Amino acid sequence: MYNKDQYYDMAIIGGGIIGLSLAYTFAQEGQRVAVFEKDGYCKGASIRNFGMIWPIGQALETLDMALESASIWKKLSAEAGFWMRNNGSLHVAYHEDEWDVLKEFHENFGQHYNTDLFSGRMAGKRSAYVQQKNLIGALYSPNEVNVDPRQAIPMITKYLKEVLDVAFFNNTYIIEIEGNRIHDDHNIWKADQIIVCTGHRLRTLFPDTFTSWPLMNCKLQMMCISNEHENFNLGPNLAAGLTLQHYKSFKECKSLTTLKRRLEKSLPEYLENGIHVMVSQNSRGDLIIGDSHHYDQAFDPFISAEINQMILKYLRTFLSVKDFHISQLWYGVYAKSMDQNPYFFRRHSQHCWILTGLGGAGMTLSFGLAKKICDKLFH
Ligand SMILES: Cc1cc2nc3c(=O)[nH]c(=O)nc-3n(C[C@H](O)[C@H](O)[C@H](O)COP(=O)(O)OP(=O)(O)OC[C@H]3O[C@@H](n4cnc5c(N)ncnc54)[C@H](O)[C@@H]3O)c2cc1C
Repeated sequence: MYNKDQYYDMAIIGGGIIGLSLAYTFAQEGQRVAVFEKDGYCKGASIRNFGMIWPIGQALETLDMALESASIWKKLSAEAGFWMRNNGSLHVAYHEDEWDVLKEFHENFGQHYNTDLFSGRMAGKRSAYVQQKNLIGALYSPNEVNVDPRQAIPMITKYLKEVLDVAFFNNTYIIEIEGNRIHDDHNIWKADQIIVCTGHRLRTLFPDTFTSWPLMNCKLQMMCISNEHENFNLGPNLAAGLTLQHYKSFKECKSLTTLKRRLEKSLPEYLENGIHVMVSQNSRGDLIIGDSHHYDQAFDPFISAEINQMILKYLRTFLSVKDFHISQLWYGVYAKSMDQNPYFFRRHSQHCWILTGLGGAGMTLSFGLAKKICDKLFH
């Protein structure tokens, strides 16, 4: 069924952070926007992540986008009233090869990222919970921002609805897009432009073309540990040696080769499971810890206890906290662009575009990318 009230300038399929950041940007441009979400609100990658807005992980090509995103997150947190903290980050080094990468990065790229190099003692002053034993030093970056995705995603949705007049169709599973028409199993809506942001679930809407696209899905294991101390403050988000071979920002450092060689010999099971370990703190004071990376198109539903043990073992090499217990375990899946592009943005037909594939940087790039896409489509 269709009636003329069901016509929009812009229809977004998927109410994860990518869909919401587009809805925010287009609504501010005065567009009539509708968001279609198959669940009551997003239960996908956008609420399963660390909540880290992480410019320090971005290559120079996307750094400005990440910084712009971070500033929009701050503005929106004030407008919509969700929790946010500008904690920055510390990458800590316990081996000379890790310290070499941090020094090289700081010397060659530090001016772009505003980094500082700290001695072990200074790092300890910045974060009381960094393991001091054998700590050589740390790289500090001031730009990283934390949100609590489980709180932020529903609050952004509410804000878009109530303040920016975005129409939300929740519990609405879109099964087909045909020209400018959007179908669920009962209704039809129309829009001048449609952007599909269904994360790793693209295949259901585009079964014929999906397999030829440079996209892969990735399963990540995560956990939450809670503590009994009321005023526990982690300070900056923490990462260590394994993380240096994960993010694009460090890829240009020549000293990374030596570090990788050691990790291949000493921690092969970590590399096989794509494990690197990071810690953030959420609005309730809990620590969010992860993660592992396994690539495929679809996954079994199981969480491996062995992988979680490996994550916790490595965590203890750089985090020193007492009286904590594991309160939640989960996994998340994201879609990742597998060519040189940091995301997958493609016109599918005259009215329909697809945006996904941001991998582990969807929270970080979301709002900056939405601005870029809005400029491309409307200016
Ligand atoms: C464990 C984990 C940790 C991460 N940590 C970080 C981090 O700290 N920082 C960072 O920057 N990034 C992080 N990421 C990446 C980030 O979470 C993702 O890139 C981002 O959430 C992807 O957002 P999305 O909107 O594309 O997808 P999703 O969040 O998956 O949202 C897609 C939405 O589309 C809906 N949908 C699907 N099909 C349909 C349909 N047919 N009809 C209607 N609705 C539909 C789904 O219900 C879902 O709500 C992490 C990811 C994971 C999994």
